[in-house]
Amino acid sequence: MENYVYLRNRKPIIHYSNMKKIILAVLAMASVWSSAWATEKSFSSPDGKLTVVVDDQNGAANYRVSLGETEFIGRSPLGLKTSMGDFTQGLTLAGCEVKTVKESYDLRNIKKSHVDYEATEAVCSFEQQGKKVMDVVFRVSNRDVAYRYTLLPKGQTLVAVIESEASGFQLPEGTKTFLCPQSRPMGGFARTSPSYETSYTLDDEMGKNGWGEGYSFPCLFRVGDKGWALISETGVDGRYVASRLLNVNGGLYKIGFPQQGECNGWGSTSAAVALPCATPWRTITVGTTLANIVETTVPFDLVSQKYKASQEYIYGKGSWSWIIGMDSSCNFDEQKRYIDFSAAMGYQTVLIDALWDKQIGYEKMAELAAYGKSKGVGLFLWYNSNGTWNDAPQSPLGKMDKSRERRAEMAWMKSIGIRGIKVDFFGGDKQNMMQLYEDILSDANDFGILVIFHGCTLPRGWEKMYPNYAASEAVLASENLHFGQGACDAEAMNATIHTFIRNTVGSMDFGGSTLNKFYSADNKRGTHRVTSDVYALATAVLFQSAVQHFALAPNNLTDAPDWAIDFMKNVPTTWDDVKFIDGYPGKYAIIVRRAGDHWFIVGINADKQPLKANIDLSMYGKGAELLVYSDDAQLNGSVKTVKAKKQLAVTIPTNGGLVIVNK
Ligand code: CA
Repeated sequence: MENYVYLRNRKPIIHYSNMKKIILAVLAMASVWSSAWATEKSFSSPDGKLTVVVDDQNGAANYRVSLGETEFIGRSPLGLKTSMGDFTQGLTLAGCEVKTVKESYDLRNIKKSHVDYEATEAVCSFEQQGKKVMDVVFRVSNRDVAYRYTLLPKGQTLVAVIESEASGFQLPEGTKTFLCPQSRPMGGFARTSPSYETSYTLDDEMGKNGWGEGYSFPCLFRVGDKGWALISETGVDGRYVASRLLNVNGGLYKIGFPQQGECNGWGSTSAAVALPCATPWRTITVGTTLANIVETTVPFDLVSQKYKASQEYIYGKGSWSWIIGMDSSCNFDEQKRYIDFSAAMGYQTVLIDALWDKQIGYEKMAELAAYGKSKGVGLFLWYNSNGTWNDAPQSPLGKMDKSRERRAEMAWMKSIGIRGIKVDFFGGDKQNMMQLYEDILSDANDFGILVIFHGCTLPRGWEKMYPNYAASEAVLASENLHFGQGACDAEAMNATIHTFIRNTVGSMDFGGSTLNKFYSADNKRGTHRVTSDVYALATAVLFQSAVQHFALAPNNLTDAPDWAIDFMKNVPTTWDDVKFIDGYPGKYAIIVRRAGDHWFIVGINADKQPLKANIDLSMYGKGAELLVYSDDAQLNGSVKTVKAKKQLAVTIPTNGGLVIVNK
């Protein structure tokens, strides 16, 4: 105190400087004390490069993630606020039980047909007043960190409400974001939002919160020049809500639950759980390049099948009149013409969009289905999911939201041999909607029906969880190319994003690969395509979905190049493997997919400059005969036969494409 008084009588500059020293000394001691008190545990991926550190500093549960020397996720909060207690504070880390987990699985409808998954599992137990309150279960593979919470029953308490998650993600300073905003509820077309159909901002600063409601998963971050991180979630079903990513401030983001107004206000924003419970997995995929992001299988590694397939489902290709002909094309004669077109292409299906119940009718649909069967073509039928949650007037309505009507409808479908359904206009991410997705899927499996969702949420591991799940939209899909020239002008730019974000975590029903020059049946009017025919071929491979309904039209048999039609006849929709070659979201994307012993290298370019690249051809074997589809500067495409050498120098013009495949 004496000293202090003395200091106060000195010149102000010395006073401040000494005060600063005292404060720093106190802070240093505090940090020594707290680290002496805090427990810290760390564990790493099987290759030792990806490391998670968990601690209980200041009575909170925290974790951080490093790849090699680089911290990708700084100290970030964990924990739950529940009806049983606030498990975000007053916590101590009792310990982490660490073991290695290995699982091999086969899945025909994702990016890779066979996955050998290996990860370090750490079950970290947190206590309050000496009693365990929750476990945080981590999985660390060589490219992904994932975690979820598990809660046990407490005495007579067998159910609980999870009100919120503290689950945070602290990105390093200088990180750039590649995000699309979550919509406010009950907005957009016929009050159908949120439906994961918003535009991305690219290379943006952190510290923003979309349109005020955060961001839709998955969320991509570029951590300076050190690498990339993709944050998402998986394993969401009727036992929880689907989440979004909210910005807290600066580089700190956290899990957000649905908005109260979703689903026309029906249902809670929190999750009601039966105990014991495990929450969905929070996933962080990291890499020094985008390779880990493109190649990750984490959405599927962490979930298991919820019921057995009632039959061997047939995936494959189909045609779809609506994208060119819109609502009026959903009539008997036009659909018959598309069945003939699908048959001519060797395609398995035709997707008949909205209003078929009024414009074709149930009786004539049976006739159409029989005609399709005679041509080897199955039908997908469109349905409105509504319900009580939006104003979308498209019919059939009221057939998918309730069990009795739904099962009666599906029994009719089975009786006439319908192959699948496309259900549109869902009501958001609350738990009741997650249950509806699951109920539609499990009922459809009883009747041997494949399911595509549109106007919907992101699929979160559903390809593995539900064997008759085909794909979801959850993207600004091809319909926007018909609706506006702006979407056509930005088509390639948007397509280069999906490879690294939306499509890498789940099947994406885009409905693209248009070969019409114009989005109209006469191919002369309407919005016009600025991308090349080779681009259309490349996106048939770039966009992954085991069921594809391409935006091709019967006139393409005569007005599109033969090489383009031949390619579209033969392109696979199921794949054995995928590898990243090069790319940058919003600029260009080059990947390779493998189907059997055929390697499909595909590239598209949205940059203003032509893209020059040297493509490594070593996967083909020297001297193998390859087909190389490429564009000249005027976007005129052609195909050449080339003998495989070590490398091939290629140029992809703006809005152009590249495809290389074994002959
Ligand atoms: Ca849509």
